[in-house]
Amino acid sequence: MMSYPDTKFVTSAADARQLAADTGREVAFAGRSNAGKSSALNAITEHPGLARVSRTPGRTQLINFFELAPARRLVDLPGYGYAKVPERVRARWHALMEHYFNVRESLAGLMLIVDSRRGVGSQDAAMLEWMLARERPVHILLSKSDKLNRGEAQRVLRETESRWRDPALSVQLFSAHARHGIDEARSVLERWLAA
Ligand code: GDP
Repeated sequence: MMSYPDTKFVTSAADARQLAADTGREVAFAGRSNAGKSSALNAITEHPGLARVSRTPGRTQLINFFELAPARRLVDLPGYGYAKVPERVRARWHALMEHYFNVRESLAGLMLIVDSRRGVGSQDAAMLEWMLARERPVHILLSKSDKLNRGEAQRVLRETESRWRDPALSVQLFSAHARHGIDEARSVLERWLAA
């Protein structure tokens, strides 16, 4: 089981020039706001400080970099999908994300947190497709699966898997509250971070 006892905050980036050095390997976590990304980060890493840093006022719209071990980073991407965000801010988010996904050499995989009751939205799909275009893996956590019954959960799992039939995409059900799927998510993170 992983622990990464020396996990530490590295830096926050508001634009392309502020990204952490592009060396080693990193795994990005992304999700619509309220999808359960903070809860997933806490459950998977067991470092409540990670999500806490990202929630600090002023940091929620930034890319937050954490070092789990030397040259091994976890990247918390800014939440998206707020209804009230002005178009200018949305366009800025899109440009920064597109840049990040297109240039990042150390990006080993994307953990995409998607509320299992909402399914994959257009902004989720944009990031997923930037990754698949570069033949980099995406793992979708269908979060809050405790809110669905078995039949509904299996249906959303099948539907999500069949939408992109790409070997670089994997999907699982996940519940931070019910502690379901945590080991599976951890093993994906571990595999991506291993050289
Ligand atoms: P974030 O905005 O994506 O970081 O989402 P949070 O982790 O803060 O969670 C948003 C809301 O969803 C909170 O009210 C959480 O309590 C709730 N939530 C998160 N994970 C789960 C889960 O596994 N099951 C249920 N039922 N609710 C959850």
